[in-house]
Amino acid sequence: MPVLSYVYELFNVDQCQAYIHTLRWKDRPLQCPRCQSHDVDPWGTYPYRPGCRRSWCNGCQRTFNDRTNTLLHQSKRSLAFWILATFLLCLSCSLRRIARELGVHGRTSYRWCWWLRHTALSYETDRQLVGTVEADDLSHTAGTKGQAPGGGKKSLGRRARGRRKQREPGRGHDDKDRPAIIAWVSRQGAVVIQATRDFTVKTVQKAADLAVHAGRRLYTDSASSYRALKGYVHAFVNHTQKEDARGDVHENRAECLFSLLKPYLRVFRGLSKTNRPGYVGFFQFLRNWPHQTAFEQAEMILCAALDPSIASRARKGEFVRCLDHFDLLQTAIN
Ligand SMILES: [Zn+2]
Repeated sequence: MPVLSYVYELFNVDQCQAYIHTLRWKDRPLQCPRCQSHDVDPWGTYPYRPGCRRSWCNGCQRTFNDRTNTLLHQSKRSLAFWILATFLLCLSCSLRRIARELGVHGRTSYRWCWWLRHTALSYETDRQLVGTVEADDLSHTAGTKGQAPGGGKKSLGRRARGRRKQREPGRGHDDKDRPAIIAWVSRQGAVVIQATRDFTVKTVQKAADLAVHAGRRLYTDSASSYRALKGYVHAFVNHTQKEDARGDVHENRAECLFSLLKPYLRVFRGLSKTNRPGYVGFFQFLRNWPHQTAFEQAEMILCAALDPSIASRARKGEFVRCLDHFDLLQTAIN
């Protein structure tokens, strides 16, 4: 029997329903999610779903409730499971941890985690930085978790193990299973983190154009890919000459961000190249709302998940493809 561990006592079914009802309809009038008609009437409740109010649409002659056409549509689990799963996700729990704490199957947890991550990415698709921006890069060793030995989607015939690869020397490239991650940090607070194939001049220029408004002040290290950047007021520090800061010119915020990103990614144990943009994008979401508690961040995600247009795109993983401008990520999660 699934249990909600010790927090079960905290939840009241009617309160959860009322909470979700408020989240869904707080900024829009009650209307049919199928035909958008406002001609709706109350239509009782469900015997198997306490507290959930049903409505009748006179336009399309069908009933609907607070979950219809949202991310939670037709889920057999109660709302408390969804609220807790979102909360735990914002506390950087892995999907196995969430499955264990909630008492749901790992496959359920996997599906939910990716849907919710993709929903969170809907807040990040159009983010472009202003002000003075610092940049830094990282070569992340990809794992082959959940993949056949040669990569790809071939069946393993057994449960996939977490398999982290040994680190190769030198600057990374996707072909060496060591793709790059580039972080852009505005001194005004916002961040953009991009999972890219490599760290060539062409990729970095494209990444910069997407992440940073043209003409802004940009501080980086002395890597040649940054020095070739066009369209920015660029200054760099030379780490090889033991120069960490020169007056106002430094990239300490970007390096600090990586010191937070690395332990965040370590929780997930050898994540693969294809799933990387989803994890990195979700971390970007968490960092861009730093003054909110995990419950407030979870509420933002649930609020987006209850929007039918966002929910349908999140289920298909479209937002992660919006962040993807480097053909590598086209093969991301289904
Ligand atoms: Zn209708």
